[in-house]
Amino acid sequence: MSNPSLLILPGDGIGPEVMAEVRRIIDWMSERRGIRFDVSEDLVGGCAYDAHGTPLTDATMEKAQQVDAVLLGAVGGPKYDDLDFSVKPERGLLRLRKEMDLYANLRPAQCFDALAEFSSLKREVVAGLDIMIIRELTSGVYFGEPRGVVVENNERVGINTQRYTESEIARVARSAFELARRRSNKVCSMEKANVMESGVLWRDVVQEVHDAEYPDVELSHMYADAGAMQLTRWPKQFDVIVTDNLFGDLLSDLAAMLTGSLGMLPSASLGAPMANGRPKAMYEPVHGSAPDIAGQGKANPIACILSFSMALRYSFDLGAEADRLEAAVEKVLADGLRTADLMGPEGGSPVSTQDMGSAIIKALDESL
Ligand code: NAD
Repeated sequence: MSNPSLLILPGDGIGPEVMAEVRRIIDWMSERRGIRFDVSEDLVGGCAYDAHGTPLTDATMEKAQQVDAVLLGAVGGPKYDDLDFSVKPERGLLRLRKEMDLYANLRPAQCFDALAEFSSLKREVVAGLDIMIIRELTSGVYFGEPRGVVVENNERVGINTQRYTESEIARVARSAFELARRRSNKVCSMEKANVMESGVLWRDVVQEVHDAEYPDVELSHMYADAGAMQLTRWPKQFDVIVTDNLFGDLLSDLAAMLTGSLGMLPSASLGAPMANGRPKAMYEPVHGSAPDIAGQGKANPIACILSFSMALRYSFDLGAEADRLEAAVEKVLADGLRTADLMGPEGGSPVSTQDMGSAIIKALDESL
């Protein structure tokens, strides 16, 4: 059988720096665990524009459609701010998401014990937190028609339309149930069925998919406003939360900030299952290209490393290896290692991007 394939798109700014640490972990897995990936690397964003006059070539897009998973660093930077909208670095990212039809956006909120002080909430509320928000990414009020600003009765009216088809709801619900089966087997679906017809349909369809295909998974429903309250009151009551594009935008940012720094946050975007049963998938840190620290060895590589860990778990069925990698990250943090973004007000001496990568590899060695 051929090795699983991975397309790496480091991108701009700190993207290549944090991705270099992931490449070292991929090499470690090959040497020490005998787990090999067919890795190819290509350009996306500003660097692709510099080389080819477009933020994503058709050839790179084609490769992304063929591989088992894409791992992206970050795109953008001040150098490209004045480019025409059609060739801005972010267009490369949007094209990947759109053409791969990545409709389920996964944002974990995971709080490493050693970083619980970074949260604005009390330690006991967040320490050990590990939940997953799944946001529908390609439909809903951000895309629904009609939209625009029109004039009615001599005043301007702003219009957006919340619109979901049954199939759009059903497919993201399936992503949530599949994921829950790999975690704690529990899904909470959030909408506003009390005031929105689209919310009533959302609730009905999620329940129908559950009853027909996933009766083994525990399902609950909650109004999204109550969900926001519960997320800050006692987030550990949740495992997988599935919600629409708009509510997911808000709730995933809220949940991410329960756990602290941008340099720690991974994400995944999944689409329909491919012929081999794996979902189309792209993994990327939540942070951008951080031009203010690019090239200085200051970037925290953990968000990118944890994005790779999500790829191990959700694309490659290597959950035990993902556990090992996450435990290695947990260990170095518990040992007190901090990149600059993780320094508290009391200060200290931060480690470099490479030092953090080396420490994680050492912890991986020690885990064997
Ligand atoms: P940013 O996430 O790049 O940076 C925000 C702040 O967080 C900066 O102070 C940065 O130094 C810090 N930071 C971010 N990641 C870090 C890490 N891994 N380690 C340590 N510190 C980190 O957001 P921004 O400054 O608003 O945007 C910069 C550029 O990135 C822009 O061109 C923007 O369009 C682009 N961007 C790209 C993506 C993406 O590729 N997915 C996402 C957001 C922004």
